[in-house]
Amino acid sequence: LAAEAPLARLGASTALPLAPRGHAQHKGSFGDVAVVGGAPGMAGAARLAARAALAAGAGRVYLSPLDPASGNDDGRPELMHRPQIWLQPQGLLDRSTVVCGCGGGSVVAEVLPPVLAQAPRLVLDADALNAVATDARLQQALAGRARRGQHSVLTPHPLEAARLLRCPTAQVQADRLNAALQLAARFDAVVVLKGSGSVIAAPGRLPVINPTGNALLATAGTGDVLAGWLGGTWAQVPQQDGWPAALEAVRRHGAAADQALLQGLQGPLRAAELVEAMLHTL
Ligand code: AMP
Ligand code: MG
Repeated sequence: LAAEAPLARLGASTALPLAPRGHAQHKGSFGDVAVVGGAPGMAGAARLAARAALAAGAGRVYLSPLDPASGNDDGRPELMHRPQIWLQPQGLLDRSTVVCGCGGGSVVAEVLPPVLAQAPRLVLDADALNAVATDARLQQALAGRARRGQHSVLTPHPLEAARLLRCPTAQVQADRLNAALQLAARFDAVVVLKGSGSVIAAPGRLPVINPTGNALLATAGTGDVLAGWLGGTWAQVPQQDGWPAALEAVRRHGAAADQALLQGLQGPLRAAELVEAMLHTL
């Protein structure tokens, strides 16, 4: 599409100015996030996303697990357990920033039609992207959201991007900029193509290559943290599309890992600790 597309200056426009909290503001001022994910055996992925959304500053975070046997996150009593929010006709889905797919398994495909139809702001990650990749009707529903004034952010890693583009992962990695631009155009969405030098692309915008981050992030669950933090940031600026929140979340996620490296962390940055590290990173 545009291997020679100009890049936005690295690091430029990456700061999302979240206004300082006013004295009389309350939790309703900072937006709601609903996390839909956590199929059997993968409760942790959705919990990590929910914890990250909370830490990013969202006013209220609801966790709606795809495993009916899964309860709340006992390590984070601030989170609210709301089973099957996708079945409630007028409710949380319509007013929340929705993060869908973390640990979604194959069952996430069943809840995607109402999620794609109703969520005003939607972050799609992991198994939600895999479900879209294999279902033409979901692809149509996703691509039609922008025309209805609904905003979407996709956060694929290279294999997920390859499935969506129906090409080998090596082809995605050989021209990451082009892959991100193609996905953004196809789905009329902001796309974060993750990995070393995450690419953020969107229709009509200059793509950005994120300069922060390192291999301390190469461990399970860090992608779930990114998706949740992105949702939690976006919920606070619901009048905007997902672009500024995507830039800010990707930058800060990497910056936390860079700070951990400077502090001498030897092993990987475990995902639950990454959430806390991001809180202490500007
Ligand atoms: P996932 O593959 O969904 O678990 O997401 C992994 C997260 O860690 C993404 O945000 C990646 O960009 C980030 N990440 C993994 N490995 C690296 C690396 N070597 N350098 C920079 N970021 C990385
Ligand atoms: Mg992932």
